[in-house]
Amino acid sequence: MAGDPVDTPVIVPASEGCFVRQAIDNMGWCDMGDYILVVDALEDAPLESEVVAAIAETVGDKPVGFVLNTHTHYDHVSLNEAFVRRFGAEIVNQRTTTIEPEGRFFQSPGREVRMIPMPGCHTREDCVIWAPNDRVLFVGDIFGWGLIPSGSLLTAELRTLLRDTYQRLIDFDAKIVVPGHGPVCGTAELVRWVEYFDWLLETVAALTAAGKNDDEIRVSVTPPEDMLDWWRFVAWKHADALGKVLTSASRGVLDD
Ligand SMILES: [Zn+2]
Repeated sequence: MAGDPVDTPVIVPASEGCFVRQAIDNMGWCDMGDYILVVDALEDAPLESEVVAAIAETVGDKPVGFVLNTHTHYDHVSLNEAFVRRFGAEIVNQRTTTIEPEGRFFQSPGREVRMIPMPGCHTREDCVIWAPNDRVLFVGDIFGWGLIPSGSLLTAELRTLLRDTYQRLIDFDAKIVVPGHGPVCGTAELVRWVEYFDWLLETVAALTAAGKNDDEIRVSVTPPEDMLDWWRFVAWKHADALGKVLTSASRGVLDD
């Protein structure tokens, strides 16, 4: 796609000492003084030397002490093995480790990083990583530039979980929000997604009640004007989200 902002990976300084390698698959790292803490580990193992060089260039030649995976889908864990092999890094994710609901804390002089479980929106393992001094929040695939993060039917229980989880994310009041994929954003996009989600649910319910079929609904529910520039939204994510809502409507779970 012409002009796709992530065609070329870029290193985004999220704060003094925290960086994001922004691409189709995102990862980040924070300088913890004696060591580096990495968040997520990409899909492509051959990127190892490029990533290790980018880390050293931005925060110095220090060992990677921890790799935190927001979840363990294949496109978030490929370099785990490289960080273990090179630095003896500890891998932390909810597949291999129990993380208490209040989170796991990583401290250094001047910086704190918290890994907080927020399961159920995308996978049962979902965690977010919050750096309060930096006001940087890594949300993994809970935010997907318009995607509904779960593949499950949108039951009342799941809808509540999605809204409650998003409210927790919004309440951090992060300056920089790092999704698992695509451009970094801010808290405003999280707020907008919840509005969009509720609008999709209400609009589809109203059109279904008015006797419209799925094809008619697909034609009439067009992407909102202010979201046309969201990453891969018009070409992909809006139709995907609408499809999930239509499937849930046809199974009757939206009436609960
Ligand atoms: Zn994922």
